[in-house]
Amino acid sequence: MNSEPILEEILIKRSQQKKRTSPLNYKERVFVLTKSKLTYYEGRPEKRFKKGSVDIHKIKCVEIVKNDGSIIPCQNKYPFQVVYDANTLYIFSASSESRNMWVKSLKEEIKNNTVIAAKFHPQFWNEGVWLCCRQAEKLAPGCEEYNLFGDISRKPLPPTPTSENSGKCRMLPPPPSPEKHDEKGKEEIVIAMYDFTGVESHDLTLIQGEEYIIIEKCDINWYRAQDKDGNEGYIPSNYVTEKKSNNLDQYPWFCKNVNRNKAEQQLKNEDKEGGFMVRESSQPGTYTVSLFTKSSGEGASQVRHYHIKESQTSPTQFYLAERHLFSDIPTLIEYHKHNAAGLVARLRYPVGKKGTSAPTTAGFSYDKWEINPSELTFMKELGSGQYGVVRLGKWRAQHKVAIKAIREGAMYEEDFIEEAKVMKQLSHPKLVQLYGVCTQQKPIYIVTEFMEHGCLLNYIRQRRGHFTLGMLISMCQDISEGMEYLERNGFIHRDLAARNCLVNESLVVKVSDFGMTRYVLDDQYTSSSGAKFPVKWSPPEVFNFCKYSSKSDVWAFGVLMWEVFTEGKMPFESNPNHEVVQLISQGHRLYRPKQAPANIYEIMMKCWQEKPEERPAFSEICHMISEVAEGDS
Ligand code: ADP
Repeated sequence: MNSEPILEEILIKRSQQKKRTSPLNYKERVFVLTKSKLTYYEGRPEKRFKKGSVDIHKIKCVEIVKNDGSIIPCQNKYPFQVVYDANTLYIFSASSESRNMWVKSLKEEIKNNTVIAAKFHPQFWNEGVWLCCRQAEKLAPGCEEYNLFGDISRKPLPPTPTSENSGKCRMLPPPPSPEKHDEKGKEEIVIAMYDFTGVESHDLTLIQGEEYIIIEKCDINWYRAQDKDGNEGYIPSNYVTEKKSNNLDQYPWFCKNVNRNKAEQQLKNEDKEGGFMVRESSQPGTYTVSLFTKSSGEGASQVRHYHIKESQTSPTQFYLAERHLFSDIPTLIEYHKHNAAGLVARLRYPVGKKGTSAPTTAGFSYDKWEINPSELTFMKELGSGQYGVVRLGKWRAQHKVAIKAIREGAMYEEDFIEEAKVMKQLSHPKLVQLYGVCTQQKPIYIVTEFMEHGCLLNYIRQRRGHFTLGMLISMCQDISEGMEYLERNGFIHRDLAARNCLVNESLVVKVSDFGMTRYVLDDQYTSSSGAKFPVKWSPPEVFNFCKYSSKSDVWAFGVLMWEVFTEGKMPFESNPNHEVVQLISQGHRLYRPKQAPANIYEIMMKCWQEKPEERPAFSEICHMISEVAEGDS
């Protein structure tokens, strides 16, 4: 019978994004496969409404979608694709078993179709490009050969003498074993950069410096791994780094995201003669050694910064002081551990990952989203905002967290809860991490990373007159890095300002409350003529047409830099909102703060270009600020 179900399951379907600009959405659908159709319904299996279907004979290709670590914005993490006519349907399973079953069954059903694709795209079509080959045409020919009976999640099987190529005798391959291999079929081995103690029984504990095998990259933030004793479990991806000879991350002296100012602070705090670290310079792909010495000859201790230079020869060689050339950076560091050779001291003591606390994880464990409120203890009140009171708390009596209790009627809660699953996946050292939510009671709670020094605006106001230029630049640098990550992930903040950034114990500034204004239930805040609308942080296209983009975030970032360099002044202090709209429309801009050198004010002015496309991207802003930071001594 043609209509008898072969498979039936609730899966997630991605909208087909017929127009390039329409936003993607992900919806649960009941999928039913029969001999003639793949149909999807809304609702539960008992009571459902047909939303669409694809004729089996039109399908040209069914295959898993390779995900190279980009964020999958729904809870099902195992995508596959069904290509028919000019369309690609992306469907997400909750487990690899479910996906394998669907792909295998669909392939079985299409095997006698008259048209089967010769080539296909192994990765997603996303925001106007194929992620696999970067072709920007949706109908661009596939970039990888399609093998109906192969399985791209596995190594190709070696040909056997009995295998036939005639196509008469085609056998489905055996079900794939869990892949512990990269695309070239090699095992992927990583080294733990930090200790990690699993919180759930399905987690795997990590010990700094030890090696692990990656079994599966479940999503961008969590991998499934195996330790040397054969134990398996989930680990946070940002705690490990690939074991590869040219990967500096595996060395205890390497600190990727540390700027000049932070490096100096960290080395001074350690206060060890010959304390050093290697960090990325403002020029991409180049590195700097920062070195602390107590005996500088000038009495006081000091930090010196040395660029690692590259010879013009082939192959490239590296050096710090002339005449001591090395084939790679680790060998160079090893040499200078024993010989100062032109440096102010020898590299005696690596100050790096050891001294710093481990980064936050995207949620407490893989797929752990809903937090049990009985595992939270509440401590002092930290402040209150648009949504309600924020308190310090502990999760499982151990992890410090901030808990926001959402006041009744303050938020579109359902929309937020849906979106928060995506927000939890946003994970970066310069973003306040969302750990999870408690939604099974009222008020609902939002649980985030705790930031000891609270909101940036109060922090700078309270310490006015006590900041060096380097400290102010470093704050802007932190924020630009967090914003560059949001921009890269196509996420718009919409309310970037000093009041929405927070400062932690190590004085790192992080961006908070990203995207949250979309859930505010208060006209005064959301309507551009409302009293609480952030007009002073808004570019013309926002206060006129509510047109938000990463470039409207860039404008707000310029105003935020101004707040930092005035140590917390109110922009356009004496003007009410309607006057600010006029002033900006006439081309007026904020003045140069006394503490801002010309090159810093230039960056602000670039952020305030009237035309959004003329404003720099955050990636450029990061670069410009770090060049200023390296120039400042
Ligand atoms: P809302 O989003 O409801 O407007 P805010 O995020 O502005 O609330 O928080 C209100 C205040 O609570 C902040 O100004 C800050 O002082 C404090 N606060 C909020 N989140 C944290 C956090 N993660 N760590 C420390 N303090 C926080």
